[in-house]
Amino acid sequence: MTPAPRTAVVLGGGVLGTSTAHALQRAGVVTTLLTRGEPADGASGRSLSWLNSAGARSEAYHLLRTVGIDRYRTLFAQDPTRAWLRFDGGLWWSTGADEARARHTHETSIGYDSEALDPEQVSARFPGVRAAAPAVHNPGEGWVSLPHLIAHLAGEFTAAGGTLRTGAGECAVLVEDGRAAGVRAGDGSTVRADAVVVACGASTPAVLAGFGVDLPDASPLSALVETEPVDSPVRTVLNTPRAALRPQPGGGFAVDHDWYVEQIEERPDGSCALDGKFVDELLAEAGAVLDGTPLEAARWRAGRKPIPADGEPVLGELSAVSGCHVVFTHSGATLGLIVGELIAHGVTTGTAHPLVAPFSPRRFGC
Ligand SMILES: Cc1cc2nc3c(=O)[nH]c(=O)nc-3n(C[C@H](O)[C@H](O)[C@H](O)COP(=O)(O)OP(=O)(O)OC[C@H]3O[C@@H](n4cnc5c(N)ncnc54)[C@H](O)[C@@H]3O)c2cc1C
Repeated sequence: MTPAPRTAVVLGGGVLGTSTAHALQRAGVVTTLLTRGEPADGASGRSLSWLNSAGARSEAYHLLRTVGIDRYRTLFAQDPTRAWLRFDGGLWWSTGADEARARHTHETSIGYDSEALDPEQVSARFPGVRAAAPAVHNPGEGWVSLPHLIAHLAGEFTAAGGTLRTGAGECAVLVEDGRAAGVRAGDGSTVRADAVVVACGASTPAVLAGFGVDLPDASPLSALVETEPVDSPVRTVLNTPRAALRPQPGGGFAVDHDWYVEQIEERPDGSCALDGKFVDELLAEAGAVLDGTPLEAARWRAGRKPIPADGEPVLGELSAVSGCHVVFTHSGATLGLIVGELIAHGVTTGTAHPLVAPFSPRRFGC
């Protein structure tokens, strides 16, 4: 039997890598977190980060997401005044009444807190929101600002003795005799460890390809616009046919959608361009949802959103390289806390937690 790891190295300073490093250090594993640039410089820095398990999905994924929300509830209860983690519910509507009815019926059938509202009820209950169709209200949902959460977790991680190394460049996993032995940083230096966790967001398949593991990838381009602070009473997350919005800690909103994705141009260095007219159009759509509130862009950022080929999370140890664990998933905001905890369980015990077992990379032969 392989002895329990005493040291670990985690690659990737997004929410999933930071949360995993935090959980490992707390479990007594001496952990180093290495990231290419600054923490939150990937998808976690440009995420809508709506905390939810709305809509239809597999049972195992729904369970993982609801447990994920539970962990945020615990964090929220420790300090309900945090401006970067709020539970003020979510509102969703589509273009017609049938979609809302079907969604509400499904959510009710699985015990997800769900309420059907007509547009007049939305206006009366949610000042500042103008719904264009019958809506679904999910009172248990919330949102988080991932850069704030990452700073919080990284602070606790380093206070507990963990080592955070930023600006580490393109890191690669060291594999010796079919086992992960540590990582090599961009400057050629190495960090040896008993276990390695790869949490590099949309770059995860490329990092695994570096040692011959082929993880099927469907990470699309995406863009998030942050607005200037604005005077609005709206506190809920809003998912609507042409704009999704959530409040920002300092006032204003984070806004995204997918109708303009084909207009995003990705350059060879990974940076992205998007014509400003699409940013303006998105904010016009968002302003209409906010009862005509004019919105001004403070900044926007684009890049790849990590999504595995079958849309389900990839969580756990590789069969091809023992001691190398992978975290690659969409909805990493909702899963941010729970996945770190469960991956740390797998690393320390050598056994996948039952909640993540259905998401093993082994389903892809990895
Ligand atoms: C526009 C958008 C909207 C979203 N909306 C939601 C939502 O509403 N709800 C929800 O739950 N989720 C949502 N998500 C998904 C969620 O934000 C992501 O799943 C999550 O942020 C991914 O975190 P991560 O840690 O895996 O990756 P990232 O945040 O991308 O972090 C990966 C890190 O690894 C580093 N890295 C990469 N390669 C290397 C290397 N070779 N060596 C060292 N470091 C490396 C990167 O620099 C980066 O810092 C959204 C995402 C986007 C982009």
